[in-house]
Amino acid sequence: MSRMSNTLKELVVISGKGGTGKTSVVASFAALAGGRCVLADCDVDAADLHLALTPRAIRREPFAGGKRARVRSGYCTACGRCEQLCRFDAIFFDGPRNGRVDKTYRVDPIACEGCGVCTWLCPAAAIEFAPAVNGEWYVSETRCGPMVPAKLGVAEEKSGKLVSLVRNEAGAIARQRGSELVLIYGSPGIGCPVIASITGAHLVLIVTEPTLSGLHDLGRVADVARHFGVPGMVCVNKWDLNPAVTAQIEQEARRHELMFGARVRYERAVTDAQIQGKSLVEYQRNGAATEIRQLWAHILEAMSVPVMPERKVAS
Ligand code: SF4
Ligand code: SF4
Repeated sequence: MSRMSNTLKELVVISGKGGTGKTSVVASFAALAGGRCVLADCDVDAADLHLALTPRAIRREPFAGGKRARVRSGYCTACGRCEQLCRFDAIFFDGPRNGRVDKTYRVDPIACEGCGVCTWLCPAAAIEFAPAVNGEWYVSETRCGPMVPAKLGVAEEKSGKLVSLVRNEAGAIARQRGSELVLIYGSPGIGCPVIASITGAHLVLIVTEPTLSGLHDLGRVADVARHFGVPGMVCVNKWDLNPAVTAQIEQEARRHELMFGARVRYERAVTDAQIQGKSLVEYQRNGAATEIRQLWAHILEAMSVPVMPERKVAS
């Protein structure tokens, strides 16, 4: 069942790997939506949409997606049982002294996997199991509307949970503001965060590039989308760098029953726009920007979203 109301739609933009130009495409969509969409930056391991949209955080929240053990040193008898039991080598005999022993045990919060074994079996009930702060999420304003980005801490693995949280928050803001669309910037690959980005969405746009790895990744990403029953569309970015592989990608898209959105040409202007902190459609009207506008029109049509008045852009 869709998590959204009948009128609010979710578009997820993903790619098989990084560097396909997904950021540039999403930043342009945000500009074309004219402030009537809410952005959910679900690339929580390596968020970079902020580089294109320069968000200003207006709310900042910690993300507690898991639990970690912690030795309450005052209760530890230094029996060493926890160290023997921990399969993740997360317990060390270098904790502070207490009234009974010179050294106690300590849990390394980065190595701790939160399995809970030590907390159940400590004979002195000296280990507590507390929610761990694994990252942060924000509500930000951008020139193209609200955005919900997030950042997962180093070596943290609760990305699927954080992605779901970001989607839910973006959906709540969209409903509050009467927006028609949540535009989700997904992470590369087919792992847990991508699955959390896709589930229950209305359309997945797969941004690919004309390389053999792009061709291979397309099939894997398409399989994930089909598995979760989400219609997919493909866009080949920088298609003119290899027209032969582009044709193969189009064929592969048909084989996977994906809609074909657009071919977007390679253009130096994409980099120039980034240097100026603009999306491509804000930077220029012709060339690749025209192709991205056409792609946007296809997407709105496929999702039955009314056409959105575009923001004023440079000529
Ligand atoms: S099992 Fe409990 S009492 Fe024993 S060393 Fe570990 S924390 Fe201390
Ligand atoms: S919760 Fe599990 S992983 Fe963490 S310290 Fe205890 S036994 Fe090790």
